Amino acid sequence: MQARHEKYLLELTGLPTATGREGRVVDWIERWTRRRRSVELHRDRYGNLMLKRVGSRSRKPIVFTAHMDHPAFVVVEQIDSKQVLAEFRGGVQDRYFVGSRVRLRLGGAESRPGRVLRLDAPVKPRLDKRAVIGFARPVTANAGDVITWDLAPPKIVRGLLSAPACDDLAGLAAAIAAFEVLLKAAPRPGAADVRVLLTRAEEVGFIGAIGACKSGIIPKAARLIALETSKSFADSPIGAGPIVRVGDRTASFDPGLTYCVGQVAQRIEQRDPGFNWQRKLMPGGTCEATAYQALGYTATCLCLPLGNYHNMNDGTPMVFAGAKRSGRSKAVARARPCKAKIDAEVISLSDYHALVRLLIEAGKTLDHKAHLPPLRRQLDTLFARRRGLLADTSL
Ligand SMILES: [Zn+2]
Repeated sequence: MQARHEKYLLELTGLPTATGREGRVVDWIERWTRRRRSVELHRDRYGNLMLKRVGSRSRKPIVFTAHMDHPAFVVVEQIDSKQVLAEFRGGVQDRYFVGSRVRLRLGGAESRPGRVLRLDAPVKPRLDKRAVIGFARPVTANAGDVITWDLAPPKIVRGLLSAPACDDLAGLAAAIAAFEVLLKAAPRPGAADVRVLLTRAEEVGFIGAIGACKSGIIPKAARLIALETSKSFADSPIGAGPIVRVGDRTASFDPGLTYCVGQVAQRIEQRDPGFNWQRKLMPGGTCEATAYQALGYTATCLCLPLGNYHNMNDGTPMVFAGAKRSGRSKAVARARPCKAKIDAEVISLSDYHALVRLLIEAGKTLDHKAHLPPLRRQLDTLFARRRGLLADTSL
């Protein structure tokens, strides 16, 4: 099973994708769906995708969500046979552009190497910066073609995945891997109706997620678990486990749902002390859970700590977690002296597998009241047991 989940991870994190140009990821999902009779694929008017078990009708499903885009260039027009004007969609600092190697993605696996020659700031009414890309040999590019950074295909070395686009295709791979396992499990009492929502255009302000809230593709009472990769910090190291993200730079998430997901993680850890997970507020960016919450849904987030966020390797060492010993994780800093450059994004494979495991367990038990009493009931039980302590009021 793990080999299959790694195959999904390796395939997806290497797909060229860009905000508004997520077609290759959509193709992958369509192929995956076609091979499974038990899955329905729905599409809203904005091109967001919803996967569900055939015939599922719950008004209160659990929805794993991930986005299909990654920061990249989109061709505006060809300037001459060896130069192309392209828009950059996503958050990458200006200093990473000029001189960096890129690849113009044509049909199939075909591509042409190029280099960023110039970068222009956005001029109103345009919202995105534009770059002139130069090619050594003549190319034919069409408006809308994707240009990605020129990075090696995804590879796994010593338990770490280095890939062009972990954000958010690793989250998407985890959602699909867990959904697939849950589809095979016979529906049991307490098992949730789990669906997968895949959104477009997250990197410029979760436009697809906002559209999904408006299009009616998400049942109003759904509980959304947004899956992300999120910039790792010293106190949220790579390899210390998936993160129950209580909030982001902008907002904090639904306390009830976040609590329940944390309880699921804690139950796995009680059974298997080798299971690592973290509970953090990740302030490195704003994620779709904030949009879902603001638009009236119940949402929380699970994320994977990410190195070289948005392909920006600024030369500061990534922080990795050592093996868990006596219940405490030991952070180990590995020095990687280099200057700022475009680089592969990095996640830990064990974090990925633990995220899939957490999602599977969440799907199986989140609606199981006996397994997961809400916090309020736990407090009431505690009060009933200990209220005697308050009997003496003569203080
Ligand atoms: Zn991102």
